[in-house]
Amino acid sequence: MNNPKVVIIGGGLAGLTAALDLVQKEIPVLVIEKNQYPSHKVCGEYVSNEVKPYLEQLGLELDGLGLPKIDTLQVSTQNGKLIEIDLPLGGFGISRYAFDHKLYQLALKKGVDFLFDTVIDVQLVNDEFSITLASKEKISSAVVLGAFGKRSNLDIKLNRNFIKEKSPWLGIKSHYKNNGHPSNLVGLHNFPGGYGGLSLTEEGDVNFCCLVKYESFKKEGDIEAFNQTVVSQNPYLRDFLSNAKTKFEKPLSIAQISFEKKKAVDNHILMCGDTAGLIHPLCGNGMAMAIHSAKLAAEQVAMFTEKPNFTRKDMEKEYQILWEKNFRKRLWMGRCLQELMLHTKWFNLGMYTVANSKILLRELISSTHGNPILN
Ligand SMILES: Cc1cc2nc3c(=O)[nH]c(=O)nc-3n(C[C@H](O)[C@H](O)[C@H](O)COP(=O)(O)OP(=O)(O)OC[C@H]3O[C@@H](n4cnc5c(N)ncnc54)[C@H](O)[C@@H]3O)c2cc1C
Repeated sequence: MNNPKVVIIGGGLAGLTAALDLVQKEIPVLVIEKNQYPSHKVCGEYVSNEVKPYLEQLGLELDGLGLPKIDTLQVSTQNGKLIEIDLPLGGFGISRYAFDHKLYQLALKKGVDFLFDTVIDVQLVNDEFSITLASKEKISSAVVLGAFGKRSNLDIKLNRNFIKEKSPWLGIKSHYKNNGHPSNLVGLHNFPGGYGGLSLTEEGDVNFCCLVKYESFKKEGDIEAFNQTVVSQNPYLRDFLSNAKTKFEKPLSIAQISFEKKKAVDNHILMCGDTAGLIHPLCGNGMAMAIHSAKLAAEQVAMFTEKPNFTRKDMEKEYQILWEKNFRKRLWMGRCLQELMLHTKWFNLGMYTVANSKILLRELISSTHGNPILN
């Protein structure tokens, strides 16, 4: 595709959703993605229902896929205090392997162009973006959406602030044969220095995904020892791991996961999904936010390409305002909840309070989630 109007860097959930939304608005779009589909990603794989109607409007048939419907959350402390609560909106379980791939196939069908390469630089010069690929090819476009995830070579190239700080967070995930995990349940279990989520995928496997501070992990040296010594201090995770059979050759892991503030518009690029900010995974809402932010960006891009009086400056300003309005408070709340969960004494105390007040827990869940979104 020569000089596409809109280029999306990164074809994860945010990039693919923005692409689908833009082609639906009849705006030609090119997605540049560095990896081939399908592939596994470190993720809890619980998707909040708030994005279900929007995804369906974009053409993604979810109901026919027989996905686990999740309506109950279980939370446990290290010492085995457990509470269970209905999820106000609920969600569904799907692996990133299947989710991203389905969106990719749909995007191809709807006419989105794809280029498999790594973007190494992007600059706005004379009101036009110049995008440089690892293959040395150069592409220009009027608009660029940044959907390149939590941490990318481009964050360094664009000199983004969060990348200058080291982050202590490590994510680990593997799929296991189901050994009795109920399909309607997402579990969130605390252990020293982190927590792990359990839920089912479309295959009926259990996805076990942890977020952990590197200092808690490094003493053990490898994931197996870490699971046995640290993770298994939580009795529910000990039970799960004691007879769990992994389906992965080896677990996936990613280091340096940053939850620091990022700019939603940086170097004139509208940032979507984790590129604009990552909510703490215990909220189970990062994917929904990535999809929602893509929708907001696509709307602004449509205004910019269709309305002569709506300038680039207007587009950037409007998107920034909308992003702050929809997500800033949720990110802050997620940060507070994660700090509480990792503070063993306060978490134990908090769990006793919450266990006696399910209204309070429902309030906490609602404060990190949005309402169902429609196109
Ligand atoms: C441990 C953990 C557990 C989580 N659990 C959940 C959960 O249960 N529920 C939930 O809703 N959220 C969860 N999240 C959050 C969720 O995974 C993210 O919010 C979501 O993946 C964001 O999607 P994205 O499209 O922004 O990024 P990604 O899906 O990471 O996509 C970014 C894409 O950009 C590509 N890319 C990067 N750099 C370049 C480049 N230079 N050129 C070309 N392509 C590039 C990458 O290959 C990638 O495909 C979790 C996160 C973590 C860390």
